[in-house]
Amino acid sequence: ARKGKTPEEVVKKYLQKVKSPPEEDCTICMEPLGGPSGYKGPGVGPVSRAESVGRLAQCGHQYHFQCLVAMYNNGNKDGSLQCPTCKTIYGVKTGNQPAGKMEYHVIPHSLPGHPDYKTIRIIYNIPPGIQGPEHPNPGKPFTARGFPRHCYLPDSDKGRKVLRLLLVAWDRRLIFSVGTSSTTGESDTVIWNEVHHKTEFGSNLTGHGFPDPGHLDNVLEELRAQGITEDDGLT
Ligand code: NAD
Ligand code: ZN
Ligand code: ZN
Repeated sequence: ARKGKTPEEVVKKYLQKVKSPPEEDCTICMEPLGGPSGYKGPGVGPVSRAESVGRLAQCGHQYHFQCLVAMYNNGNKDGSLQCPTCKTIYGVKTGNQPAGKMEYHVIPHSLPGHPDYKTIRIIYNIPPGIQGPEHPNPGKPFTARGFPRHCYLPDSDKGRKVLRLLLVAWDRRLIFSVGTSSTTGESDTVIWNEVHHKTEFGSNLTGHGFPDPGHLDNVLEELRAQGITEDDGLT
């Protein structure tokens, strides 16, 4: 809706026509692609036979058109679509991170494992609030524990690259989400999304500290899974 396109138009943009559906099941509804979509939810209009199955243009995976529309409607309707099989992202993926602030600065100390570099400290601050339509329980309050949260990166070339991409992820609302904390079990609270951060500076008591030689590459991989690549850090 934000882009002025209907869900059907958004989904269609990423699809190629399929003349004869393969003899396989749609992995969204588990019904044969040769038959109708198993999705019976609200807002499902009839589609012509020629349009009933589509192939995602980049990865080639095929689904019932109506199943893709239903999946899109269950998300945050930001104009992007992610293949449920291979996770290929179509368009620009955004999340539902609540409003807040991201700041960073360099501190003149080295992290364990990065003795030649100073340290970038990122400070995230998100206040509690009321959930919007993009959250699990719209209209209900959400809590925000442990903010401001401080995170650390080595001030190396690769560390600065990660920072640039984290700034993109913040703008796309992908660093935090609202849901149930796996650490505390609390629901309707601000939680880390799929991109790991190091929140411990000089020790590693929590497992979220240094040294961790693979950390920066892991984060780059997690950012890639959110559709954020090195090209995004250039602008
Ligand atoms: P979560 O527990 O649902 O976990 C989501 C992801 O964040 C997981 O991948 C997990 O590995 C990672 N994660 C968990 N704890 C982390 C930490 N300390 N540092 C870096 N990554 C961490 O997500 P959540 O509820 O947002 O994370 C729990 C963390 O939030 C706590 O460890 C704490 O730092 C903070 N917190 C603080 C309070 C408080 O009252 N001070 C309360 C709740 C949570
Ligand atoms: Zn289906
Ligand atoms: Zn795919």
